[in-house]
Amino acid sequence: MIIDGKAVAAQIRAELLTRTARFFEKAGRAPSLAVLLIGDDPASQIYIRNKIKGCAETGIRSFDVRLPEDTSEEEAVLAVRKLAQQTDLDGILVQLPLPKHLNAEKILAEIPPEKDVDGFSAANIGALALGKEGMVACTPLGVMELLRRYGIEPRGKHAVVIGRSNIVGKPMSLLLLNADATVTVCHSHTKNLKEECLRADILIAAAGKAKLLTADMVKEGAVVIDVGTNRDENGKLCGDADFENVQKKASFITPVPGGVGPMTIAMLLQNVCTAAEKRLK
Ligand code: NAP
Repeated sequence: MIIDGKAVAAQIRAELLTRTARFFEKAGRAPSLAVLLIGDDPASQIYIRNKIKGCAETGIRSFDVRLPEDTSEEEAVLAVRKLAQQTDLDGILVQLPLPKHLNAEKILAEIPPEKDVDGFSAANIGALALGKEGMVACTPLGVMELLRRYGIEPRGKHAVVIGRSNIVGKPMSLLLLNADATVTVCHSHTKNLKEECLRADILIAAAGKAKLLTADMVKEGAVVIDVGTNRDENGKLCGDADFENVQKKASFITPVPGGVGPMTIAMLLQNVCTAAEKRLK
């Protein structure tokens, strides 16, 4: 079965419209998100445009804050600190990657954990590691939501995550662990990736390598979630899995595009809404 991330994301957006309307009734304002972009990275500009569009479509007010490429670390820290002090802001997002001369960890630390809607700050990653409530990174959160809405229960399953980045692989493995799966995390130094993958009931590919995951690495009936976003030899968008062949063995599989991708922004919007509701309480 092909998991339709686009349809699930559309459903979540519809649910959010109801939630933001209810919030407006109670608070007299819309949930709000500030998006800070430093520099002029073209990919970041597209991501930001999509996030702002998503906000408008779900009743979230967004503030687009731009700083030049040569912004100093001190200026960036002050800009985030200023946003953090704005009482009418529920979420703050600093678009990554930052220009090379800036220390992302230091700048992200200025976002109060309850407004860190990307879930990238040390405080929120720490909360996740401790199994405590906090803001969770949108892409892995989106994967968990897809599993939930398709009735795929991680408890007692063997989950294998390929990738250990701070924004996908690591939070993904912690979420699965917190959901009572037995988790193996693979990375570029993993000795026998195929052997590890063959043991997976739930296989999450987040390496960013086209055709890394081939059918001979997948157990019959496994659930395959493909987070990878790559370009194939013809420049076409593709994931980490050899979709045509892997789908013949998987019980469920996400396509690229149309799988995990649409869930990421939907989860960001959901995090903003949740942050606003919690602050109102
Ligand atoms: P990243 O920071 O480059 O991390 C990639 C991870 O994969 C690293 O941990 C790396 O291991 C591991 N890896 C690379 N090649 C491998 C191999 N041959 N075998 C085993 N492990 C390997 O990337 P990321 O930010 O996590 O993103 C991963 C992918 O997801 C990318 O394609 C990205 O575009 C995509 N993505 C999609 C969304 C979405 O919304 N759909 C959101 C975020 C990211 P080491 O740690 O040892 O280097």
